[in-house]
Amino acid sequence: MEYRKLPHGEEKISVIGMGSSVIGEQPEKDIIETVQLALDSGINFFDMAGGHASVFSAYGKALEGRRQNAMLQVHFGADYITGAYGWTTNLDTVKKSVEWQLEKLKTDYIDFGFIHCIDEEADLIAYEKNSILNYLMDMKEQDVVKHIGLSTHAPVIANKVLDMNILDMLMFSINPMYDYGEGDYAIGSDGERQRLYRRCEKESVGISVMKPFNAGQLLDAKQSPFHAAMTTAQCIQYALDKPGVMTVLGGPGNVKQLKEILSYFDTTKEERNYSIISRLTPDESIGKCVYCKHCHPCPANIDIGLINKYYDLAVQGDILAKEHYMTLEKTAADCIRCGHCNRRCPFKVMQMERMNEIKNYFGK
Ligand code: SF4
Ligand code: SF4
Repeated sequence: MEYRKLPHGEEKISVIGMGSSVIGEQPEKDIIETVQLALDSGINFFDMAGGHASVFSAYGKALEGRRQNAMLQVHFGADYITGAYGWTTNLDTVKKSVEWQLEKLKTDYIDFGFIHCIDEEADLIAYEKNSILNYLMDMKEQDVVKHIGLSTHAPVIANKVLDMNILDMLMFSINPMYDYGEGDYAIGSDGERQRLYRRCEKESVGISVMKPFNAGQLLDAKQSPFHAAMTTAQCIQYALDKPGVMTVLGGPGNVKQLKEILSYFDTTKEERNYSIISRLTPDESIGKCVYCKHCHPCPANIDIGLINKYYDLAVQGDILAKEHYMTLEKTAADCIRCGHCNRRCPFKVMQMERMNEIKNYFGK
């Protein structure tokens, strides 16, 4: 397992986490087995928003004696008291549901307390007006909640809550379909979405990625808009390459699917290469680097994907990214203008010319 450090905190988060969207369809013993395999494999980050109330008591049992090895995203606004998933902005219902979840999980603290699934401004207004946000902030004040998060599919809502300066984590739907304008949750243009990822990185807000495979659609050649099946490893790599991303939450339905997700670590760089998505690059994104490193290796040993990421972040005002760039051994100034990257880039980035631009910006 690999880990990334939460910017607002000391926690080291596994780059692959586990979502609970479908695991609740299984008998309790299978849920427990899957969660325990996740823990044994080094996964320490679990999202608790799922379609089934049954996951909570199963997690409670799976985490017995191991609670300190798991970080849980618990959603304020997801209601499970009836036995099925419900969405609410009623304060009493939220309180009862959170208490119920803590009891079933056999825990007295929440690692990440989430403003749950807000995609419309009116819902955000109701969330505040009904004092649910106050309740969540009070729980943080009391140290029951360690960090505040937001789950949304909409960049405009993410930006509004980022403006409040309360977030440590954003749960956002990231996959190449959505970024390229395909699918139900393809909300916002690619440019708007990329700016959001960079804003998170700049403001030290981590991103936990939901829907990395778009419920399996990307893994099926017949359903994928790219007219070819992507692999789980390619989808995971795509999300992990985005600025701000801490962890990618696959939603395994059983042990077999979890093992398939974890096989990411057995794949080569070539097997993780997702340049296939360039087939559908929207016009606004042609010529923009996606940091995929398909153009590597560079004969001058420049990490082309990385310095492009630092450049885009620095231009958006990320001081840390600038500092990181300045400590690099090889920078844009080392480019020997061989043109290899221009020929290799499937996204039509004129990288050789961009190296000049980057060198001029950083002065090295
Ligand atoms: S220049 Fe092209 S191939 Fe190279 S990292 Fe950027 S997008 Fe990928
Ligand atoms: S043009 Fe520059 S950055 Fe691109 S591959 Fe050649 S040396 Fe590397």
